[in-house]
Amino acid sequence: MTDIPHVVILGGGFGGLAAANELRNSMSSSQVKISVIDKKDWFMVGFAKLWIINGTRTFENSTGSLNELTKKEIKFIQDEISSIDLQNKKVKTLNQIIPYDFLIISMGAVLAPQIIPGLVENGFNLYDHNQLLEIRDKLESINSGKIAISIMGIPYKCPPAPFEASLLIDSMLRKRGIRDSVQIDFYSPAPITLPAAGPEVSKQILDLVNSEKIIFHNSCKIKSVKPKKLVFESGKEADFDLLLAVPPHIASTVIYDSGLAKESGFIPIDRDCKTSFENVFAVGDVTSLVVTENMAVPKAGVFAEGEGITVAKNIISQIQSKGNLVLFDGKGGCFIESGRDTASVIEVDMFSNPKPITHLTESTSDNLSKKLDFEKERMSNWL
Ligand SMILES: Cc1cc2nc3c(=O)[nH]c(=O)nc-3n(C[C@H](O)[C@H](O)[C@H](O)COP(=O)(O)OP(=O)(O)OC[C@H]3O[C@@H](n4cnc5c(N)ncnc54)[C@H](O)[C@@H]3O)c2cc1C
Repeated sequence: MTDIPHVVILGGGFGGLAAANELRNSMSSSQVKISVIDKKDWFMVGFAKLWIINGTRTFENSTGSLNELTKKEIKFIQDEISSIDLQNKKVKTLNQIIPYDFLIISMGAVLAPQIIPGLVENGFNLYDHNQLLEIRDKLESINSGKIAISIMGIPYKCPPAPFEASLLIDSMLRKRGIRDSVQIDFYSPAPITLPAAGPEVSKQILDLVNSEKIIFHNSCKIKSVKPKKLVFESGKEADFDLLLAVPPHIASTVIYDSGLAKESGFIPIDRDCKTSFENVFAVGDVTSLVVTENMAVPKAGVFAEGEGITVAKNIISQIQSKGNLVLFDGKGGCFIESGRDTASVIEVDMFSNPKPITHLTESTSDNLSKKLDFEKERMSNWL
Protein backbone atom coordinates (compact mmCIF):
# COMPACT_ATOMS: atom_id res chain seq x y z
CA MET A 1 0.00 0.00 0.00
CA THR A 2 1.23 3.53 -0.81
CA ASP A 3 1.57 5.98 2.10
CA ILE A 4 -1.91 7.42 1.69
CA PRO A 5 -4.28 4.61 0.66
CA HIS A 6 -6.01 5.20 -2.67
CA VAL A 7 -9.67 4.22 -3.03
CA VAL A 8 -10.72 4.10 -6.68
CA ILE A 9 -14.45 4.12 -7.35
CA LEU A 10 -15.68 2.93 -10.75
CA GLY A 11 -18.90 4.80 -11.54
CA GLY A 12 -20.30 8.03 -10.12
CA GLY A 13 -23.90 6.89 -9.69
CA PHE A 14 -25.85 6.09 -6.54
CA GLY A 15 -23.43 3.52 -5.10
CA GLY A 16 -20.25 5.33 -6.08
CA LEU A 17 -21.31 8.75 -4.79
CA ALA A 18 -22.63 7.34 -1.51
CA ALA A 19 -19.33 5.51 -0.93
CA ALA A 20 -17.13 8.48 -1.93
CA ASN A 21 -18.99 10.86 0.37
CA GLU A 22 -19.07 8.46 3.33
CA LEU A 23 -15.31 8.00 3.00
CA ARG A 24 -14.56 11.70 2.71
CA ASN A 25 -16.93 12.65 5.54
CA SER A 26 -14.99 10.32 7.84
CA MET A 27 -11.42 10.76 6.62
CA SER A 28 -9.46 13.75 5.37
CA SER A 29 -7.41 13.89 2.17
CA SER A 30 -4.26 13.30 4.23
CA GLN A 31 -5.74 9.97 5.37
CA VAL A 32 -7.32 8.65 2.19
CA LYS A 33 -7.10 9.54 -1.49
CA ILE A 34 -10.40 9.06 -3.34
CA SER A 35 -10.90 8.96 -7.12
CA VAL A 36 -14.24 8.56 -8.89
CA ILE A 37 -14.15 7.56 -12.56
CA ASP A 38 -17.19 8.00 -14.81
CA LYS A 39 -17.59 8.40 -18.57
CA LYS A 40 -20.21 11.10 -18.09
CA ASP A 41 -19.84 14.18 -15.92
CA TRP A 42 -23.34 14.28 -14.45
CA PHE A 43 -25.52 12.43 -11.98
CA MET A 44 -29.29 12.13 -12.05
CA VAL A 45 -31.71 10.43 -9.68
CA GLY A 46 -33.33 7.74 -11.88
CA PHE A 47 -36.93 8.71 -11.24
CA ALA A 48 -36.41 12.20 -12.69
CA LYS A 49 -36.47 10.48 -16.09
CA LEU A 50 -40.22 9.95 -15.69
CA TRP A 51 -40.68 13.65 -14.91
CA ILE A 52 -38.87 14.53 -18.15
CA ILE A 53 -41.30 12.24 -19.95
CA ASN A 54 -44.37 13.87 -18.39
CA GLY A 55 -42.99 17.35 -19.04
CA THR A 56 -42.66 18.53 -15.43
CA ARG A 57 -38.84 18.58 -15.64
CA THR A 58 -36.03 19.29 -18.06
CA PHE A 59 -32.88 17.23 -18.30
CA GLU A 60 -30.77 20.26 -17.31
CA ASN A 61 -32.79 20.82 -14.13
CA SER A 62 -32.45 17.18 -13.12
CA THR A 63 -28.68 16.70 -13.13
CA GLY A 64 -25.80 17.57 -10.84
CA SER A 65 -22.20 17.95 -12.00
CA LEU A 66 -19.68 15.31 -10.90
CA ASN A 67 -17.01 18.02 -11.17
CA GLU A 68 -18.39 19.33 -7.85
CA LEU A 69 -16.65 16.36 -6.17
CA THR A 70 -13.31 18.11 -6.46
CA LYS A 71 -14.48 20.71 -3.90
CA LYS A 72 -14.49 17.85 -1.38
CA GLU A 73 -11.03 16.74 -2.42
CA ILE A 74 -12.48 13.76 -4.25
CA LYS A 75 -10.74 13.49 -7.62
CA PHE A 76 -13.17 13.15 -10.51
CA ILE A 77 -11.83 11.57 -13.68
CA GLN A 78 -14.14 11.76 -16.67
CA ASP A 79 -13.04 8.83 -18.79
CA GLU A 80 -14.22 5.46 -20.06
CA ILE A 81 -13.08 2.49 -17.97
CA SER A 82 -11.75 -0.13 -20.40
CA SER A 83 -10.38 -2.87 -18.15
CA ILE A 84 -9.59 -3.88 -14.57
CA ASP A 85 -6.29 -5.61 -13.83
CA LEU A 86 -7.19 -7.37 -10.59
CA GLN A 87 -3.81 -9.10 -10.25
CA ASN A 88 -1.78 -5.88 -10.45
CA LYS A 89 -4.42 -3.65 -8.79
CA LYS A 90 -4.78 -1.23 -11.68
CA VAL A 91 -7.70 0.21 -13.64
CA LYS A 92 -7.22 1.08 -17.28
CA THR A 93 -9.24 3.87 -18.86
CA LEU A 94 -9.07 5.08 -22.47
CA ASN A 95 -6.45 7.63 -21.40
CA GLN A 96 -4.62 6.39 -18.32
CA ILE A 97 -3.71 3.59 -15.94
CA ILE A 98 -4.81 4.16 -12.34
CA PRO A 99 -3.41 2.07 -9.47
CA TYR A 100 -5.61 1.37 -6.45
CA ASP A 101 -5.32 0.03 -2.92
CA PHE A 102 -9.07 -0.41 -2.56
CA LEU A 103 -11.47 -0.74 -5.49
CA ILE A 104 -15.23 -0.13 -5.38
CA ILE A 105 -17.02 -1.29 -8.52
CA SER A 106 -20.28 0.63 -8.89
CA MET A 107 -20.69 0.63 -12.66
CA GLY A 108 -24.43 -0.05 -12.66
CA ALA A 109 -26.29 -2.16 -15.19
CA VAL A 110 -26.06 -1.80 -18.97
CA LEU A 111 -29.31 -1.51 -20.92
CA ALA A 112 -29.24 -4.04 -23.76
CA PRO A 113 -32.17 -3.47 -26.16
CA GLN A 114 -30.16 -5.13 -28.97
CA ILE A 115 -30.72 -8.53 -27.32
CA ILE A 116 -34.40 -8.48 -28.38
CA PRO A 117 -34.68 -8.77 -32.18
CA GLY A 118 -36.57 -5.80 -33.64
CA LEU A 119 -36.76 -3.75 -30.44
CA VAL A 120 -34.32 -1.00 -31.43
CA GLU A 121 -36.12 -0.49 -34.76
CA ASN A 122 -39.69 -0.65 -33.47
CA GLY A 123 -39.80 0.60 -29.91
CA PHE A 124 -38.45 3.10 -27.39
CA ASN A 125 -36.21 2.41 -24.42
CA LEU A 126 -38.08 3.86 -21.43
CA TYR A 127 -34.87 4.04 -19.35
CA ASP A 128 -32.56 5.69 -21.90
CA HIS A 129 -32.06 9.38 -21.10
CA ASN A 130 -31.41 10.08 -24.79
CA GLN A 131 -34.91 8.95 -25.75
CA LEU A 132 -36.98 10.76 -23.11
CA LEU A 133 -37.85 13.85 -25.16
CA GLU A 134 -38.89 11.79 -28.16
CA ILE A 135 -41.07 9.62 -25.90
CA ARG A 136 -42.65 12.78 -24.49
CA ASP A 137 -43.33 14.12 -28.01
CA LYS A 138 -44.98 10.83 -28.99
CA LEU A 139 -47.16 10.89 -25.85
CA GLU A 140 -48.14 14.49 -26.55
CA SER A 141 -49.14 13.71 -30.12
CA ILE A 142 -50.92 10.36 -29.73
CA ASN A 143 -54.71 10.79 -29.90
CA SER A 144 -55.91 7.21 -30.12
CA GLY A 145 -54.59 3.64 -30.29
CA LYS A 146 -52.56 1.42 -28.02
CA ILE A 147 -49.56 2.17 -25.83
CA ALA A 148 -47.62 -0.90 -24.71
CA ILE A 149 -45.27 -0.84 -21.75
CA SER A 150 -43.22 -4.00 -21.78
CA ILE A 151 -40.67 -5.40 -19.34
CA MET A 152 -38.30 -7.45 -21.47
CA GLY A 153 -35.94 -8.96 -18.90
CA ILE A 154 -35.59 -9.61 -15.20
CA PRO A 155 -33.86 -8.28 -13.16
CA TYR A 156 -34.32 -4.64 -14.15
CA LYS A 157 -33.75 -1.35 -12.32
CA CYS A 158 -36.36 -0.10 -9.89
CA PRO A 159 -39.09 -2.74 -10.27
CA PRO A 160 -41.96 -0.27 -9.56
CA ALA A 161 -40.74 2.32 -12.12
CA PRO A 162 -42.53 0.95 -15.22
CA PHE A 163 -45.79 0.82 -13.22
CA GLU A 164 -45.19 4.42 -12.16
CA ALA A 165 -44.57 5.26 -15.81
CA SER A 166 -47.92 3.71 -16.80
CA LEU A 167 -49.72 5.76 -14.11
CA LEU A 168 -48.00 9.00 -15.11
CA ILE A 169 -48.82 8.37 -18.76
CA ASP A 170 -52.44 7.66 -17.79
CA SER A 171 -52.45 11.04 -16.04
CA MET A 172 -50.94 12.83 -19.06
CA LEU A 173 -53.59 11.36 -21.37
CA ARG A 174 -56.38 12.23 -18.94
CA LYS A 175 -55.21 15.85 -18.77
CA ARG A 176 -55.32 15.96 -22.58
CA GLY A 177 -58.88 14.57 -22.47
CA ILE A 178 -58.06 11.59 -24.68
CA ARG A 179 -57.60 8.81 -22.14
CA ASP A 180 -60.72 6.94 -23.28
CA SER A 181 -59.34 6.71 -26.84
CA VAL A 182 -55.95 5.28 -25.82
CA GLN A 183 -55.52 1.80 -24.37
CA ILE A 184 -52.56 1.21 -22.04
CA ASP A 185 -51.30 -2.40 -21.94
CA PHE A 186 -48.61 -3.53 -19.51
CA TYR A 187 -46.69 -6.72 -20.37
CA SER A 188 -44.43 -8.49 -17.87
CA PRO A 189 -42.62 -11.83 -17.95
CA ALA A 190 -43.44 -12.23 -14.23
CA PRO A 191 -46.60 -13.92 -12.94
CA ILE A 192 -47.37 -11.00 -10.57
CA THR A 193 -46.66 -7.27 -10.76
CA LEU A 194 -43.75 -7.05 -8.30
CA PRO A 195 -42.32 -10.48 -7.42
CA ALA A 196 -39.60 -8.89 -5.25
CA ALA A 197 -42.25 -7.21 -3.10
CA GLY A 198 -44.32 -10.39 -2.63
CA PRO A 199 -47.92 -11.33 -3.49
CA GLU A 200 -49.70 -8.85 -1.18
CA VAL A 201 -47.94 -5.73 -2.43
CA SER A 202 -48.21 -7.09 -5.98
CA LYS A 203 -51.99 -7.35 -5.60
CA GLN A 204 -52.13 -3.74 -4.32
CA ILE A 205 -50.11 -2.56 -7.33
CA LEU A 206 -52.39 -4.56 -9.63
CA ASP A 207 -55.44 -2.93 -8.05
CA LEU A 208 -53.81 0.50 -8.44
CA VAL A 209 -53.12 0.08 -12.17
CA ASN A 210 -56.47 -1.63 -12.79
CA SER A 211 -58.24 1.29 -11.12
CA GLU A 212 -56.85 3.50 -13.90
CA LYS A 213 -57.87 0.98 -16.61
CA ILE A 214 -54.28 -0.04 -17.29
CA ILE A 215 -54.37 -3.67 -18.43
CA PHE A 216 -51.71 -5.88 -16.82
CA HIS A 217 -50.71 -8.97 -18.85
CA ASN A 218 -48.62 -11.38 -16.78
CA SER A 219 -46.20 -14.16 -17.81
CA CYS A 220 -45.55 -12.54 -21.22
CA LYS A 221 -41.94 -13.40 -22.07
CA ILE A 222 -40.90 -11.40 -25.10
CA LYS A 223 -39.34 -13.11 -28.12
CA SER A 224 -39.13 -10.32 -30.65
CA VAL A 225 -40.67 -7.07 -31.80
CA LYS A 226 -42.10 -6.52 -35.28
CA PRO A 227 -43.49 -3.24 -36.59
CA LYS A 228 -46.43 -2.47 -34.27
CA LYS A 229 -46.42 -6.02 -32.89
CA LEU A 230 -44.99 -7.76 -29.82
CA VAL A 231 -44.20 -11.45 -30.26
CA PHE A 232 -44.05 -13.55 -27.09
CA GLU A 233 -42.30 -16.86 -26.48
CA SER A 234 -45.71 -18.52 -26.08
CA GLY A 235 -46.46 -17.65 -29.72
CA LYS A 236 -49.04 -15.05 -28.65
CA GLU A 237 -48.83 -11.65 -30.35
CA ALA A 238 -50.04 -8.20 -29.27
CA ASP A 239 -50.55 -4.99 -31.27
CA PHE A 240 -49.30 -1.57 -30.27
CA ASP A 241 -48.99 1.92 -31.74
CA LEU A 242 -46.32 3.11 -29.30
CA LEU A 243 -43.95 0.75 -27.49
CA LEU A 244 -42.09 1.80 -24.35
CA ALA A 245 -39.77 -1.00 -23.33
CA VAL A 246 -37.67 -1.79 -20.30
CA PRO A 247 -34.92 -3.71 -22.12
CA PRO A 248 -32.86 -6.57 -20.69
CA HIS A 249 -30.14 -5.45 -18.25
CA ILE A 250 -26.62 -6.92 -18.32
CA ALA A 251 -23.23 -5.92 -16.86
CA SER A 252 -20.51 -4.03 -18.72
CA THR A 253 -18.05 -6.02 -20.89
CA VAL A 254 -15.35 -4.69 -18.53
CA ILE A 255 -16.93 -6.84 -15.81
CA TYR A 256 -17.15 -9.97 -17.97
CA ASP A 257 -13.59 -9.52 -19.30
CA SER A 258 -12.28 -9.26 -15.72
CA GLY A 259 -13.95 -12.56 -14.81
CA LEU A 260 -15.93 -10.94 -11.97
CA ALA A 261 -19.25 -12.09 -13.45
CA LYS A 262 -20.31 -14.83 -15.83
CA GLU A 263 -22.25 -14.71 -19.12
CA SER A 264 -24.99 -12.11 -18.96
CA GLY A 265 -25.03 -12.08 -15.13
CA PHE A 266 -23.87 -9.71 -12.40
CA ILE A 267 -21.10 -9.79 -9.77
CA PRO A 268 -22.12 -12.15 -6.97
CA ILE A 269 -21.69 -10.55 -3.53
CA ASP A 270 -22.71 -11.19 0.03
CA ARG A 271 -23.87 -8.60 2.58
CA ASP A 272 -20.25 -7.43 3.07
CA CYS A 273 -20.15 -6.54 -0.67
CA LYS A 274 -16.73 -8.20 -1.07
CA THR A 275 -15.67 -9.87 -4.30
CA SER A 276 -13.30 -12.83 -4.34
CA PHE A 277 -10.37 -10.41 -4.84
CA GLU A 278 -8.66 -8.76 -1.90
CA ASN A 279 -9.84 -5.18 -1.24
CA VAL A 280 -12.15 -5.26 -4.27
CA PHE A 281 -15.80 -4.53 -3.50
CA ALA A 282 -18.89 -4.29 -5.70
CA VAL A 283 -22.14 -2.44 -4.99
CA GLY A 284 -25.45 -1.61 -6.63
CA ASP A 285 -26.93 -2.66 -9.95
CA VAL A 286 -23.72 -4.34 -11.13
CA THR A 287 -24.12 -6.96 -8.38
CA SER A 288 -26.35 -9.85 -7.51
CA LEU A 289 -27.01 -10.27 -3.78
CA VAL A 290 -29.13 -13.32 -3.15
CA VAL A 291 -31.72 -13.05 -0.36
CA THR A 292 -33.63 -16.32 -0.74
CA GLU A 293 -33.54 -19.08 -3.35
CA ASN A 294 -35.85 -17.11 -5.65
CA MET A 295 -34.99 -13.57 -4.69
CA ALA A 296 -32.09 -11.12 -4.95
CA VAL A 297 -31.85 -7.56 -3.63
CA PRO A 298 -33.70 -5.45 -6.25
CA LYS A 299 -31.74 -3.10 -8.45
CA ALA A 300 -32.52 0.27 -6.88
CA GLY A 301 -30.62 3.43 -5.99
CA VAL A 302 -31.57 3.18 -2.35
CA PHE A 303 -29.90 -0.26 -2.08
CA ALA A 304 -26.84 0.81 -4.12
CA GLU A 305 -26.51 3.70 -1.66
CA GLY A 306 -26.79 1.40 1.39
CA GLU A 307 -24.18 -0.95 -0.05
CA GLY A 308 -21.87 1.95 -0.93
CA ILE A 309 -22.02 3.23 2.66
CA THR A 310 -21.41 -0.29 4.01
CA VAL A 311 -18.28 -0.70 1.89
CA ALA A 312 -17.00 2.77 2.81
CA LYS A 313 -17.40 2.00 6.52
CA ASN A 314 -15.51 -1.27 6.15
CA ILE A 315 -12.68 0.37 4.21
CA ILE A 316 -12.42 3.09 6.87
CA SER A 317 -12.29 0.41 9.57
CA GLN A 318 -9.59 -1.46 7.66
CA ILE A 319 -7.47 1.67 7.10
CA GLN A 320 -7.82 2.59 10.78
CA SER A 321 -7.08 -1.04 11.77
CA LYS A 322 -10.27 -1.19 13.82
CA GLY A 323 -11.34 -4.56 12.48
CA ASN A 324 -15.12 -4.13 12.86
CA LEU A 325 -17.14 -5.35 9.88
CA VAL A 326 -20.58 -3.97 9.04
CA LEU A 327 -23.05 -5.75 6.82
CA PHE A 328 -25.52 -4.18 4.40
CA ASP A 329 -28.88 -4.08 6.24
CA GLY A 330 -31.11 -4.50 3.16
CA LYS A 331 -33.52 -1.79 4.29
CA GLY A 332 -34.97 0.86 2.00
CA GLY A 333 -38.02 2.52 0.57
CA CYS A 334 -39.06 3.01 -3.06
CA PHE A 335 -41.61 5.63 -4.06
CA ILE A 336 -44.50 4.89 -6.42
CA GLU A 337 -46.12 7.95 -7.90
CA SER A 338 -49.79 7.37 -8.67
CA GLY A 339 -50.09 10.15 -11.25
CA ARG A 340 -52.71 12.05 -9.23
CA ASP A 341 -50.10 14.19 -7.44
CA THR A 342 -49.70 11.57 -4.75
CA ALA A 343 -47.19 8.82 -4.06
CA SER A 344 -46.92 5.74 -1.90
CA VAL A 345 -43.78 4.06 -0.61
CA ILE A 346 -42.83 0.40 -0.76
CA GLU A 347 -40.91 -0.13 2.47
CA VAL A 348 -38.56 -3.07 2.32
CA ASP A 349 -36.51 -5.04 4.84
CA MET A 350 -34.79 -7.67 2.69
CA PHE A 351 -32.95 -9.55 5.44
CA SER A 352 -35.69 -9.67 8.03
CA ASN A 353 -36.08 -13.09 9.66
CA PRO A 354 -37.66 -15.48 8.70
CA LYS A 355 -38.47 -13.77 5.40
CA PRO A 356 -38.22 -10.35 3.71
CA ILE A 357 -40.84 -7.80 4.78
CA THR A 358 -42.46 -5.46 2.27
CA HIS A 359 -45.19 -2.97 2.96
CA LEU A 360 -46.98 -0.50 0.71
CA THR A 361 -48.01 2.76 2.40
CA GLU A 362 -51.02 4.84 1.51
CA SER A 363 -50.85 7.20 -1.49
CA THR A 364 -50.55 10.74 -0.14
CA SER A 365 -49.34 14.12 -1.34
CA ASP A 366 -46.96 14.13 1.63
CA ASN A 367 -45.16 11.09 0.14
CA LEU A 368 -44.77 12.97 -3.13
CA SER A 369 -43.03 15.81 -1.21
CA LYS A 370 -40.80 13.19 0.43
CA LYS A 371 -39.87 11.91 -3.01
CA LEU A 372 -38.79 15.41 -4.05
CA ASP A 373 -36.81 15.74 -0.79
CA PHE A 374 -35.12 12.38 -1.43
CA GLU A 375 -33.72 13.77 -4.69
CA LYS A 376 -32.80 17.18 -3.22
CA GLU A 377 -30.92 15.59 -0.31
CA ARG A 378 -28.81 13.35 -2.56
CA MET A 379 -27.95 16.19 -4.91
CA SER A 380 -26.96 18.57 -2.11
CA ASN A 381 -25.21 16.02 0.13
CA TRP A 382 -23.23 14.29 -2.60
CA LEU A 383 -22.33 17.05 -5.06
C1 LIG B 1 -37.02 5.50 -14.48
C2 LIG B 1 -36.25 5.07 -13.26
C3 LIG B 1 -36.78 5.32 -12.00
C4 LIG B 1 -36.08 4.92 -10.86
N1 LIG B 1 -36.61 5.20 -9.63
C5 LIG B 1 -35.93 4.83 -8.51
C6 LIG B 1 -36.46 5.09 -7.22
O1 LIG B 1 -37.54 5.68 -7.08
N2 LIG B 1 -35.75 4.69 -6.14
C7 LIG B 1 -34.57 4.02 -6.26
O2 LIG B 1 -33.96 3.69 -5.25
N3 LIG B 1 -34.04 3.74 -7.48
C8 LIG B 1 -34.69 4.12 -8.60
N4 LIG B 1 -34.17 3.83 -9.84
C9 LIG B 1 -33.01 2.92 -9.96
C10 LIG B 1 -31.70 3.62 -9.75
O3 LIG B 1 -31.53 4.70 -10.63
C11 LIG B 1 -30.55 2.62 -9.95
O4 LIG B 1 -30.83 1.42 -9.29
C12 LIG B 1 -29.25 3.21 -9.40
O5 LIG B 1 -28.87 4.29 -10.21
C13 LIG B 1 -28.14 2.17 -9.29
O6 LIG B 1 -26.98 2.78 -8.80
P1 LIG B 1 -25.53 2.25 -9.22
O7 LIG B 1 -24.56 3.10 -8.51
O8 LIG B 1 -25.47 0.79 -9.05
O9 LIG B 1 -25.46 2.49 -10.79
P2 LIG B 1 -25.65 3.84 -11.60
O10 LIG B 1 -26.34 4.87 -10.80
O11 LIG B 1 -26.26 3.43 -12.90
O12 LIG B 1 -24.17 4.35 -11.85
C14 LIG B 1 -23.26 3.67 -12.66
C15 LIG B 1 -22.30 4.68 -13.24
O13 LIG B 1 -21.19 3.98 -13.85
C16 LIG B 1 -20.83 4.66 -15.02
N5 LIG B 1 -20.17 3.69 -15.92
C17 LIG B 1 -20.64 2.49 -16.31
N6 LIG B 1 -19.74 1.89 -17.13
C18 LIG B 1 -18.70 2.76 -17.26
C19 LIG B 1 -17.47 2.71 -17.98
N7 LIG B 1 -17.11 1.66 -18.73
N8 LIG B 1 -16.64 3.76 -17.90
C20 LIG B 1 -16.97 4.85 -17.13
N9 LIG B 1 -18.12 4.93 -16.43
C21 LIG B 1 -18.97 3.90 -16.49
C22 LIG B 1 -22.15 5.16 -15.59
O14 LIG B 1 -21.94 6.25 -16.46
C23 LIG B 1 -22.92 5.53 -14.33
O15 LIG B 1 -22.81 6.89 -14.00
C24 LIG B 1 -34.84 4.25 -11.00
C25 LIG B 1 -34.30 4.02 -12.27
C26 LIG B 1 -34.99 4.42 -13.39
C27 LIG B 1 -34.39 4.18 -14.76
